[in-house]
Amino acid sequence: MGMKIRFIEPGNRPYRRSPLNLFVYERYIRAPSNGMLTLATLASRSFDDVHCYSESISEIDWDDVVDADVVCISFFSFAACRAYAIADALHESCDMLVVMGGLHPTLAPEEAARHCDYVLRGEGDESLVPLLKCLEEYRDPVGVVAGACALRDDGLAGLEPEIPHAIDTIPDYSLVHRYKEMAGHNTIWPQVHASRGCPHNCSYCGLVAAFGRKVRCRPPESVVTEIEQAIEFFDAHHHRIAKMLWITDDNFFANRAWAVSVLESIIARGIKYNFTIQARYEVGFDDEMLDLLREAGFSELAMGIEFIDDESFAAYGKKSTRAEIERSIANIQAHGLRVRGLFIVGTENHYPGVGDQLADFVLEHDIDGILVQSMYFIPGTPSYDDHKDDLLDPGRWDRCVGAVVHRPKNMTPTQLQKEIIRASKKVYSAPRLLNALVKKRGLERVLFIGEFFWQASIRSDLRRELGYLEQLERS
Ligand code: SF4
Repeated sequence: MGMKIRFIEPGNRPYRRSPLNLFVYERYIRAPSNGMLTLATLASRSFDDVHCYSESISEIDWDDVVDADVVCISFFSFAACRAYAIADALHESCDMLVVMGGLHPTLAPEEAARHCDYVLRGEGDESLVPLLKCLEEYRDPVGVVAGACALRDDGLAGLEPEIPHAIDTIPDYSLVHRYKEMAGHNTIWPQVHASRGCPHNCSYCGLVAAFGRKVRCRPPESVVTEIEQAIEFFDAHHHRIAKMLWITDDNFFANRAWAVSVLESIIARGIKYNFTIQARYEVGFDDEMLDLLREAGFSELAMGIEFIDDESFAAYGKKSTRAEIERSIANIQAHGLRVRGLFIVGTENHYPGVGDQLADFVLEHDIDGILVQSMYFIPGTPSYDDHKDDLLDPGRWDRCVGAVVHRPKNMTPTQLQKEIIRASKKVYSAPRLLNALVKKRGLERVLFIGEFFWQASIRSDLRRELGYLEQLERS
């Protein structure tokens, strides 16, 4: 068919070549997202001229974009400001139709609709192509295609999104501009998404608000075929030092029997690779699963630990306790797997000193790497509704990259931001770098060195913002 369709995944800021790129491409997401790629792959089966740009890996070729018939812009909250700037500029100077989708437009459709012709809410696997066909035939998709909506005189109009049944699409990496060249860099890892949904209900989690609590899994054999293809795409003709594949599921272990099948299939096909995966603490009590993970080539679990105090777990509906997490970490490590910790600070139960406490927890439990972010509030989540009056500068989605975005109860925003800097500095200190150089080997050593510089760049961003936070505090 004749439409020219371009997909754009904006970054938090425009892609810029820099020596820093040796370690850090886009600071927070380091590969094009599977969501955009999956939808572009589906679109390419019905339309001939489909191409994608992701600002995590390249500049956008505007000469190619300006004469497109449809531009689809997909984004998370941290890239919303950039997405709106791109859409507004395209609308001002070009004739194409602009469609927005992804997590943020799904959860804040009215806001997104002010910058585009249509918003496609939901996952899009079964609704994007029908929407594009409507546009090709000059028909209005609103009221026809599930999830398609637009602003009308009396507000946002459109049908609610429907959960797709067919989610087994292997993304076509070749659709993304310069992906093959960039895949040779150590900071860009292959990603595979094998299941959707999570049965838990943490009140700050946008994924549950967008994808629901019913866990949907792809056939194990197809997941493993995608893993093989991703490894081939990333490693053929490249000499990557840090060979790591990230299974990006939010809760891969929610369906235990299925997770076992995927791991057994990786082993049966003889795939030899390093994998990392996100996990809740419960998997740390499943000895059989931990053994299988090791056998399948998993070297670390990225655990959404979030808090280290039971009051914060209770306040945000996270079913965890500090004692259980400590037991889980110890057992995971006893099975030869590393633990990476994902943490959140700035709850009602956090006071000055939380940064030190967090760093001490990390050092005490020998956690290999960390990501610390301030409490975040994604539209459409219960936490957002509870805290929207505490937000410092609503609409500044570009600040949702781990920085402090609200007025915490027991500290000033500036104090909290300094706590994050302190925690990062203590975990990624010069003596610990030296220790990693001497004692760690292979991939572990490479990862620590890379993260050392990555965290330094994050700290410098956070420090640069302290003056701005002080101004907001005074206003
Ligand atoms: S367990 Fe993780 S993915 Fe599931 S609701 Fe909680 S934060 Fe979200």
